[in-house]
Amino acid sequence: DHALVWFRRDLRLDDQAALYHALRQARRVFCVFVLDTAILDALPRADRRVQFILQALQRLDAQLRAQGGALIVRHGAAAEEIPRLAAELGVQAVFANHDDEPQALARDAAVAQALAAQGRTWHSFKDHVIFERSELLTGAGKPYAVFTPYKNAWLKKVDEFYLHAYPVARYAEALAPHALAQGVPSLAEIGFQDAGLAAHLAADKAETLFEDFLQRIDRYDRARDFPAVKGPSYLSVHLRFGTLSIRRLAREAWQRMTAGERGAEVWLSELIWRDFYHQVMHHWPHAMGSAFRPEYDKIVWEQGPEAERLFAAWCRGETGYPLVDAAMHQLNSTGYMHNRLRMVTASFLIKDLGVDWRWGERYFAEKLLDFDLAANNGGWQWAASSGCDAQPYFRIFNPVSQSEKFDPEGRFIRRYLPQLAELPDKLLHAPWLAGPLEAPADYAPPLVRHDEARQRTLARYGVVKSRA
Ligand code: FAD
Repeated sequence: DHALVWFRRDLRLDDQAALYHALRQARRVFCVFVLDTAILDALPRADRRVQFILQALQRLDAQLRAQGGALIVRHGAAAEEIPRLAAELGVQAVFANHDDEPQALARDAAVAQALAAQGRTWHSFKDHVIFERSELLTGAGKPYAVFTPYKNAWLKKVDEFYLHAYPVARYAEALAPHALAQGVPSLAEIGFQDAGLAAHLAADKAETLFEDFLQRIDRYDRARDFPAVKGPSYLSVHLRFGTLSIRRLAREAWQRMTAGERGAEVWLSELIWRDFYHQVMHHWPHAMGSAFRPEYDKIVWEQGPEAERLFAAWCRGETGYPLVDAAMHQLNSTGYMHNRLRMVTASFLIKDLGVDWRWGERYFAEKLLDFDLAANNGGWQWAASSGCDAQPYFRIFNPVSQSEKFDPEGRFIRRYLPQLAELPDKLLHAPWLAGPLEAPADYAPPLVRHDEARQRTLARYGVVKSRA
């Protein structure tokens, strides 16, 4: 009996659930990745994620070959490629890990159905999160919509069993090569260009980043909010594509937390947010395009050319608010944005510019190397106050005080906005206060006044209050 393992967001050989189960059950196991045209066709021709994926596939192929297997790479519509390949290979079963995004679920259902029609079986497994779907429910049997009780339930349930690694290497002898495995195509061969992926975010840097982070995880709770310092782990892209196992990361954090480390405890909490938003997506898929709390869809956002002008200035990092602009430059030039800044820029777009959060969500989805539907939607709806357990609508970040608080010496701002480098620290957060001699010539005046924008937003959100 032969099996096919379909890799998707789990691009590694160690501790991989579907691979493990296939190796245990089948005598020969083939591996495939599909460069899915249903996804790729919608992307700009230069996309850092495509570059990351090809790097990760190169690595996966090399590792498979070292263990007697090989990676088959297909370029086409996955929903057709998988059943076709399964037939070509004559496998009895296809193994994959759960992907709970609505479009992925529809695709997998179609694949499972096509396989069934051929008399083949489909097996899928939890791999991407620690607890998924309905594994954690409230006492009343309902899904959690509030984070803190979810987190408490998560911490209560977790133990070594859930964090244990799948010992893939022990069963690797079932890995089989195949003539169809002809190596990984280049960017050019699949019609893409170099998008400039930073070396430290490359697919083969997972271990290096993780080792580096473990040296400073004990300071995470104090360092994570300051974008100028190396506080967070920068591992999000590896969690997104599965180049590191979530179980390995959570296990490391959990053991340190149990030993009393505060930094590890706070970091584990972030990993739990990730699980939280995934189960939100599973239980409330409608919220992936509209407000989690439907009354927030009554809000009337700015529209027409004025809204487009404000949005375009935000995208380019030309709002006149240095922290917001520096953050957008970080996103545009690297594909990464610090978590504090994701909150600040999202809040600014929604509550200072009055632009629909979905526009910002879509822009992040295009630019973020770690773009993840559940987490991105969760973050945007948190900022828009329309999500589950979101920021209350009347809490509106002040972009100047956020800047003073989280980039007090302007080190982050100066890194991304060199035209402001000479401004004294106290003016850096609000350059419009500079006198004519100090004012930077090539920096935009502020798009809006925050105090006025705040009043407009409170009025805009009035439709929600009157219905509450
Ligand atoms: P660390 O601080 O080292 O955190 C470790 C890991 O925990 C992250 O890699 C991530 O997997 C997870 N995590 C941390 N915070 C969150 C969170 N709030 N929600 C869910 N998971 C979290 N994260 C994404 O992975 N993809 C997205 O598309 C995404 N979009 C966001 C949009 C907005 C508006 C906001 C406010 C947040 C978004 N986040 C997203 C969450 C968070 O900003 C990133 O996960 C984090 O900045 C990634 O950097 P890191 O790996 O260095 O994080």
